[in-house]
Amino acid sequence: MNNHLLALTGATALVGDTMEPCHGATVLIQDGRIAAVGPDVAIPQAARILHLPGRTVLPGLIDSHVHLGPPETTRGVRPGLLARSKAVVDWMRFQPGKRRGFLRHGVTTVCSLGDENDWVHDFRRKSAVAELVGPRLLIAGPIFTSPGGHPVATVGARPDADWVRVPRSPDQAREQVGALVTGADPVDVVKVVHDRGDPRRTPLEPLEPAILQAIVEQAHHHGKKVAAHWGTLEDLAELLAAGVDGLHHLEPRGPLRGWPPHLLTAMVDSGVTLAPTLAVTDALLDGETAALLRSRVAEFHEAGGTLIAASDSGMPSVHAGSGLIRDIALLARSGLTAREAVRAATSAPAQALGTDQIGAVEAGRAADLLVVDGDPLARLDALRAVVMVLREGRIVVDRTSRKHESHGTQQP
Ligand SMILES: [Zn+2]
Repeated sequence: MNNHLLALTGATALVGDTMEPCHGATVLIQDGRIAAVGPDVAIPQAARILHLPGRTVLPGLIDSHVHLGPPETTRGVRPGLLARSKAVVDWMRFQPGKRRGFLRHGVTTVCSLGDENDWVHDFRRKSAVAELVGPRLLIAGPIFTSPGGHPVATVGARPDADWVRVPRSPDQAREQVGALVTGADPVDVVKVVHDRGDPRRTPLEPLEPAILQAIVEQAHHHGKKVAAHWGTLEDLAELLAAGVDGLHHLEPRGPLRGWPPHLLTAMVDSGVTLAPTLAVTDALLDGETAALLRSRVAEFHEAGGTLIAASDSGMPSVHAGSGLIRDIALLARSGLTAREAVRAATSAPAQALGTDQIGAVEAGRAADLLVVDGDPLARLDALRAVVMVLREGRIVVDRTSRKHESHGTQQP
């Protein structure tokens, strides 16, 4: 039994979707949810009290694009693992280092946008019942792509592998999406790759328009959003025509020198969100190219578009947790205020995912919370000063000294 009743007192809480500072706030947590938040919340006798002056309570962060991998687990575990007990194999398969890495950085929700379907369902089930302590897990299952598209033609994913779906017709696409979005354990979101690659050097085959359309229609019919990996401006125009909900990545082979005005307008008018995943591209690009991409992010933002922080963690050089903190910092370098950059990792993705369960410090939401030293709205770097992380009211990271803790109604 963990923290049936817990009160965080004395901190500044960033309240609601807009993260308005409430100084000297009490955040009362009951049974894993936020029961009340404000300056004058009555604290029940039975509550455990944690007094946190000088600290800020904000929603746990959401990383909207991760890969939990590794793909080679498709056909069972690797031979070397078979000699070990099931407990050890599970421990290795379910990535304790990654799970802790996310939590240590205050990331309490991750969205897996492309992992082996059976494996990631198993992962989500075990996470939901807290057999595995880690972030809340939202999943797309496999990636929808074409026979000549990424990751089939790029990294050699077999078309029958469980982390891809390669529909050959609109009917097959509807059937494959239908199998994922219905039933007892549906996916949370559908992921498509629609990418021509680099047309001169390494061309790739995007999805056929009728197949793309069938995927999007079937997902929407069942109330699921569609997240799309794209590269070129032609990909973008077709994805907008198909009505996808989220665009992921922003590559130099896209709008490096500027957005075509009609596409920028179409993006903003459609409400499609953009997760530029600067955390993964920034480190690989020269300074000038990286700066150009940040200018494109700034233009999308100034035009009224919604940006989403997302790390693409699982890609080389992008680590669990720290990748998202870096992506938030890069959004701020692209012209977002600190508040806007943090909202891109909290309330904005919650709204984009259509959930009111996470992403804000607000009564009724899950108590997925991050406590940091200092004020991240004044100095974004304060996000790195993690003091405590709660997942459904359970303290999963604690760097406070216990002297701040008390019991009963008396406040220190
Ligand atoms: Zn990815």
